Amino acid sequence: MNLDNIDLEQEKKEILSSYRGLLRVAKHVKTPEDKKIVRKAFDVALEAHKDMRRKSGEPYIYHPIAVARIVAEEIGLGTTAIVSALLHDTVEDTELTLDDVEHLFGDKVRSIIDGLTKIADVFDTTVSIQAENFKKMLLTLSDDVRVILIKLADRLHNMRTLESMRRDKQLKIASETSFMYAPLAHRLGLYSIKTELEDLALKYTEPEEYNEITTKLKKGQAVRTRFINRFTLPIRRELDKEGFNYVVKSRPKSIHSIWNKIHTKNIPFEEIYDLFAVRIIIDTPPEREKADCWKIYSIVTDFYQPNPDRLRDWISTPKSNGYESLHTTVMSPTGKWVEVQIRTERMDEVAEMGYAAHWKYKSQTDEEGSLDIWLSRIREMLDSNSEEAIDFIDDFKLNLFSDEIFVFTPQGELKTLPSRATALDFAFDIHSQVGESCIGAKVNQKLVPLSHPLKSGDQIEILTSKKQKAKEDWLNFVVTAKAKSKIKTALKEEQKQIASLGKEQVQRKFKSLGVTFNSRNVSELEKFYGYKAALDLYHDIAKDKISLKKMKGFTIEKNNIHFEKEDTPVNQPGKGPKTKTPGHKDTLFVGDDEKDVPYKLAPCCNPIPGDDVFGFVTINDGIKIHRVNCPNAVQLRSNYAYRVIKAKWQSQKEKEFIAYVYFKGIDDIGLVSNITQLISNDLNVNMKSIGFESNDGVFDGHVSVYVYDTDHLNDLIDQLKQVEGVLTVTRGEQPDE
Ligand code: MN
Repeated sequence: MNLDNIDLEQEKKEILSSYRGLLRVAKHVKTPEDKKIVRKAFDVALEAHKDMRRKSGEPYIYHPIAVARIVAEEIGLGTTAIVSALLHDTVEDTELTLDDVEHLFGDKVRSIIDGLTKIADVFDTTVSIQAENFKKMLLTLSDDVRVILIKLADRLHNMRTLESMRRDKQLKIASETSFMYAPLAHRLGLYSIKTELEDLALKYTEPEEYNEITTKLKKGQAVRTRFINRFTLPIRRELDKEGFNYVVKSRPKSIHSIWNKIHTKNIPFEEIYDLFAVRIIIDTPPEREKADCWKIYSIVTDFYQPNPDRLRDWISTPKSNGYESLHTTVMSPTGKWVEVQIRTERMDEVAEMGYAAHWKYKSQTDEEGSLDIWLSRIREMLDSNSEEAIDFIDDFKLNLFSDEIFVFTPQGELKTLPSRATALDFAFDIHSQVGESCIGAKVNQKLVPLSHPLKSGDQIEILTSKKQKAKEDWLNFVVTAKAKSKIKTALKEEQKQIASLGKEQVQRKFKSLGVTFNSRNVSELEKFYGYKAALDLYHDIAKDKISLKKMKGFTIEKNNIHFEKEDTPVNQPGKGPKTKTPGHKDTLFVGDDEKDVPYKLAPCCNPIPGDDVFGFVTINDGIKIHRVNCPNAVQLRSNYAYRVIKAKWQSQKEKEFIAYVYFKGIDDIGLVSNITQLISNDLNVNMKSIGFESNDGVFDGHVSVYVYDTDHLNDLIDQLKQVEGVLTVTRGEQPDE
């Protein structure tokens, strides 16, 4: 036990040094009385937690000290908040009571600790929280908004030390963090904290992608630094000459925002990481702030050409959350756009730390007083039905209803899924076997089909049956990659099983004929029936699509089989009895799936069922159906686009699916029409929708097209890449409406 004693002594020293670290950064703890009360809070917390250790094994007291340090250093709060942060876990986890706290530290600290203890119940249990309830909860629990700020600091430290938690706990805490805490920090203007929370959440929810992005960022660090140094050199020289006191900072985008861009916009990492901002922060007195910022703007634009569309003056009119800065985007010598943010040290602090710093500067009174003004402002905002309050709620709604949804198991466990995820996606998210045997679901106690799209807050119970098997048409509505790949694997597995039955039939047949069962002979058989893969052949034999009895015109020589007419197979996959041959009755759909619209086939191109066609509304003769490659088509489509309507044969609809293609390029007149021309005329691909957006000479576009298969789609992508000005073409998910 001697060793333990030595450790404890050392530990005590370390705890004290960590406490002193807190005091060093607590700039607002100035008076001897303030210092005394903070020390008292530390002593009380130390004593209360003395027998407790965190999961990592370290003494528990490190946690409240760290939370208090975040509160002081990163949010800029004062004595009352620091005292409360030091005590934040005492009432919940130790013998200390609220009355003790009030007795020792007064009623203000009591009410904050009370709020923190209550908020823990709501925040930390995964119940479905709608935005409106969330607001109510914040209102009732946070008579003092310091409660929320300390809670945020608490969560930040827990996220920073999440490593030692169990994997399932990590996931739960990380999901909650991106669900509630990060948007909350964002709304309160705590940008650094918001960013760090998001990055840390990603680290645990998407560890592989997080690591990939981090590694790539590290790799690019040297190149980035060199670029920034070269870019800022002339500016720095001039600033020195003018006698400015300044720092130049440059930070790449946050890992989470890069990840988000990659996923929502389908932009490769290399293109995002290139985009970064250079920040010039000057130290200048309040009365010169605006003039000096503009002076620096003028220096920057003396060296680099600015984009006039991208000038943002948030100094003259600050953002509603207090953000002030002057932004411009300029062209660097290497042809890259660089955003330059110009601001003062004060503005920078507000931007990083949010409202707290804002009010600290605004008010000339003591820190506690000005903080109270800020707190009451936020409270008012939450309390009223003002526009800001609605914004506040919208922020959560945005988070609730945008690219991710948050749903719950019957046990209340939180699951994160992409928006548009269905009940079946949820089933596969739980387990692939649950997915494969899923026959239906209950969403909020109501029975729904497998394809039912889920909403945030839904509670889902999955119904399964042992007899159920994965179905091909499931692929039409699941959205998660996990569900898709599991369904495909299950289908393949089933195909393999069926194929093995067909294989046995072939083996028997060969045996009866005295033919060796080997790859040479099987491939002869494939050729005879017109198949490219043995597995497909076996499958169709087992399914009775083709019959071995029809085998004819062959000779057998030394156990090898030869067919006479190899070039005229009796059957061809895809052209089997299922497919309608041209001339058969085929229904034409005109417009949006209308099949009873009268039409005539245009005599100029004589379309037949199966052709790619479109409808054209004539003046006197109703709707005429033309082939897409009709000699008149280009002229009709370009001159009378408004009279063109969609038309499609039933047989085609069955074969087609919609694919989404995204492209990026250099904006150029005629580019859009080149692309649409290529798609609709040259490639005969039907477009469902198209969208373009042009930004600073760069355009972003997406089209949704009907294609037959991936070869067809890849062909289209290859052709699009050839269009002059187009830089990247990628296949993606359905765009947000
Ligand atoms: Mn805590």
